Amino acid sequence: MKRILALLLAVIPCVPARAADGRIPDGPNIRVLIAQGSAGIRLKTSTRVYVLEVRSGKKFLLVENAAYDIKPSPGGISVAGQLLSSPVKLLSPEGGERIRLGGNLYKGDIQVSSPDGRRLDVIEFLPLEDYLCGVLPVEMSPDWPLEALKAQAVASRTYALKFVNQTRDYDVSDGVEMQAYNGAGKANARILEAVNSTRGEVMKYKGKILTAFFHACCGGHTASAKAAWGEDVLKPLYGVPDPFCSGSRHARWELYVPAADLLKYIQSAGSTALKIKSVRVYKKDRSGRAVSIRFTTDRGTKDIPVGELRRALGSYEFRSSFVTRITPVKGGYEFSGRGWGHGVGMCQEGAKAMALKGRPYKKILRFYYPAVSIVDYE
Ligand SMILES: [Zn+2]
Repeated sequence: MKRILALLLAVIPCVPARAADGRIPDGPNIRVLIAQGSAGIRLKTSTRVYVLEVRSGKKFLLVENAAYDIKPSPGGISVAGQLLSSPVKLLSPEGGERIRLGGNLYKGDIQVSSPDGRRLDVIEFLPLEDYLCGVLPVEMSPDWPLEALKAQAVASRTYALKFVNQTRDYDVSDGVEMQAYNGAGKANARILEAVNSTRGEVMKYKGKILTAFFHACCGGHTASAKAAWGEDVLKPLYGVPDPFCSGSRHARWELYVPAADLLKYIQSAGSTALKIKSVRVYKKDRSGRAVSIRFTTDRGTKDIPVGELRRALGSYEFRSSFVTRITPVKGGYEFSGRGWGHGVGMCQEGAKAMALKGRPYKKILRFYYPAVSIVDYE
């Protein structure tokens, strides 16, 4: 499918990503994949834009208030009809202009590359601290208490840093499979304070940067990374009882699934059953989450790993593997469960409740990631 992205350069007031004492963020840069496999980009300028051919260093200017097509082309990238070698960078001149792409505001430099001459990849280069100002409003909420946002800033910084400097063309993608990031447009004063007041702080365990997973709501006990993904047992990601998120609206969920849908699913997973007789949680991990679901049918039993069932039924509706009850109801089954998300690492709803009770962010982090040290990344 042909996908055209509208890229628009606009004059936007600069978001002041600097600390109260005037320090400008430095630290590492991060490369964020913001589009992959695009068939072309329509660039609209409202100010001047420099196009830089990275290999030759050749730079030319696109005038303001004009539209340009950027397309993949055999041998490189065609910018406004001119063939350049891949990659090219789009740079806004000094003076605080920012780039809009697909409705999102980006503060960094944009690199457009075409590895195969047929599709474009778009990557933003920006300081890690600026990136966090874009992650926090999406992964948490600008309205949440400051200490929860600060805990999120440290968790997100730590998580992102784990992926920097690896042997890929970019460090992180912008979707929920990593950390959601929609550019820097939604950062308010509270987000800036959360990022700037924890500037450079990351979590380490035994001298190594932690893969600081987090999730919406654990439902009463966080999961171990080992149970969730088969990763090595690591004390900070082993799972803790969480009394703080019980008041959250995400603490419990229910999902009705028609028996016919379940039958169709287990048939696709290899069962020859024609009728389901019962459905129950078969195995649980130590946090209480289901490991597998057992279907008893007219042709024996079929056990399905809960992660596979969750993906098949929709991980938005089937909110967690923390299935507490499966009840037969009117031609189907009602799944009841707790929490939302994979359950590993920090529970955001619990962090919010702890912050509202006056707990400082370091206490929140040490609760969810026991035994970590919180240190500067340099
Ligand atoms: Zn929780």
